[in-house]
Amino acid sequence: MAKKQFKAESKRLLDLMINSIYTHREIFLRELISNASDAIDKLYYRSLTEGITGLSRDDFAISLSVDKDARVLTVSDNGCGMTKEELEQNLGTIAKSGSLAFKKEQEDPEKAGDIDIIGQFGVGFYSAFMVADCVKVISRAYGSDEAWCWESLGADGYTIEPCEKEGHGTDIIMTVKKSTEEENYDEFLEPYRLRQIVKKYSDYIRYPIRMPVEKTRPKEGVEPKEGEAPEYETYTEVETLNSMVPLWKKNKSEITAEEYNKFYKEKFFDYEDPARVIHSSTEGTATYNALLFIPARAPYNFYTRDYEKGLQLYASGVMIMDKCPDLLPDCFSFVRGLVDSQDLSLNISREMLQHDRQLKIIEGRLEKKIKSELLAMLNSDREKYEAFWKNFGLQLKYGVYAEYGAKKDLLQDLLLFHSSSENKLVTLSEYVGRMREEQKYIYYACGETVERIDHLPQIELLKDKGYEVLYLTDDIDEFALTMLHDFDGKEFRSAANSELNLESDEEKEAAKKQTEENKDLLALMKEALDGKVEDVRLSQRLKSHAVCLSSEGALSLEMEKVLNAMPN
Ligand code: ADP
Ligand code: MG
Repeated sequence: MAKKQFKAESKRLLDLMINSIYTHREIFLRELISNASDAIDKLYYRSLTEGITGLSRDDFAISLSVDKDARVLTVSDNGCGMTKEELEQNLGTIAKSGSLAFKKEQEDPEKAGDIDIIGQFGVGFYSAFMVADCVKVISRAYGSDEAWCWESLGADGYTIEPCEKEGHGTDIIMTVKKSTEEENYDEFLEPYRLRQIVKKYSDYIRYPIRMPVEKTRPKEGVEPKEGEAPEYETYTEVETLNSMVPLWKKNKSEITAEEYNKFYKEKFFDYEDPARVIHSSTEGTATYNALLFIPARAPYNFYTRDYEKGLQLYASGVMIMDKCPDLLPDCFSFVRGLVDSQDLSLNISREMLQHDRQLKIIEGRLEKKIKSELLAMLNSDREKYEAFWKNFGLQLKYGVYAEYGAKKDLLQDLLLFHSSSENKLVTLSEYVGRMREEQKYIYYACGETVERIDHLPQIELLKDKGYEVLYLTDDIDEFALTMLHDFDGKEFRSAANSELNLESDEEKEAAKKQTEENKDLLALMKEALDGKVEDVRLSQRLKSHAVCLSSEGALSLEMEKVLNAMPN
């Protein structure tokens, strides 16, 4: 039989393919399983549109099998299969996608809605050569009684010859490469590892992926003698490896809180239930399903550089990226979860996305959704929200300040602060809602702890007048308020500001007079404190304290402290 040659360019392309497109070798399995799923989808679609009888959805399956001694891994499906011509076209031409062509041919959206073809680039198949020296494809097209065997060792071409195969479908038979000192390929012959890879990338393929797995059990009929271990025997059981139905595609009303919690804990390796679950689907300019979780506790590395934000990204149920950062704004970096969309433009390795409008749109929608869920939590379950705030409030306050305040409108309703009037956290709108009629500003004071602020001389007069004061204890707080500038039209004003403007006209007049009378004393004090203070003035705001410090200008004393403490 004559060996057909790849064209010169194809050879180079295949080499590129095999060695540089993918960062993770393990994805070859994702690619082959996706092809198998596509092949079944195509046949299923035909059974619907052409009214083929004798095909039942329940009979469709994908199987993996391993022969360790022969180093052979096989991926089989009972999908549409390929004729000799199709084998040549689809596997003999790099970047030829029979699946893309199929997708384009289908004009009956009613029925096509039931299938979800994954392939589009015509390169995934060749990823098998990342792990195999030799790939054999035995295929029999549905309705044909001929089977064909395509075989290739990689770059030097392929052969096609007739062969035997029972039933329609395709077997991809790979001879797994031998491990070397640098590279280990043996893992791809280990059922536990294959199960892991399937779980990671192909858990939501809609047909069962089965594999015979060796197990042990106590030997039947043999009663263990007292004090002795029972006898064990090994047996083989065919296991279905994938969950098939993605939780996020189910109807919300059909999912219990336990199911959500279990899913979250397994998928995102947390031992605590999430504080809140956000499950949403959207159609229109961007069609996607999102399943997001707000963790009950900040991960230990949350406020460090090591923390990596991002959501898992699925395209048509196949995992594309583990942590896609572009789907989450920084201020909500604590959210875990996933997004599944069919409309993404993937790059050829399907490991990355072409940065596109779609992603931006999804990010924008999720941002709004997360905010509204947090607001709902704030309004309906204050205790829970305060627990959330304890974990992630700092991130929200950074969010107000970051990006030149771009997110301040988004976040301002979500902020909580300690306050003088109640021994609990208050929102800005609660503060504004109970401001006194003549009160112009939202007052705040900074300090290390709530107790210390409570004893500051600067806030005595404010308290005396019955004005509420926000107590800021985090370094970022005052920067965030300065960035906000005002809330609901009410400007923020530090209690340490020298211009509090609390006095009546008569009081101001009296103060002026008093200052005039004590001019010499003040000048003397200023001289004594030379270089340490800008000025010494008489104050009307002190009650039980003799002196206090105050500041003027954009930077407060506290902000100066923070800035001075920062490394240059
Ligand atoms: P893609 O899946 O992006 O189209 P691949 O390189 O993975 O590209 O596969 C190329 C083509 O080979 C597919 O489009 C499909 O027509 C055909 N093919 C691959 N695997 C199978 C299979 N198991 N059954 C039937 N056809 C297949
Ligand atoms: Mg493919």
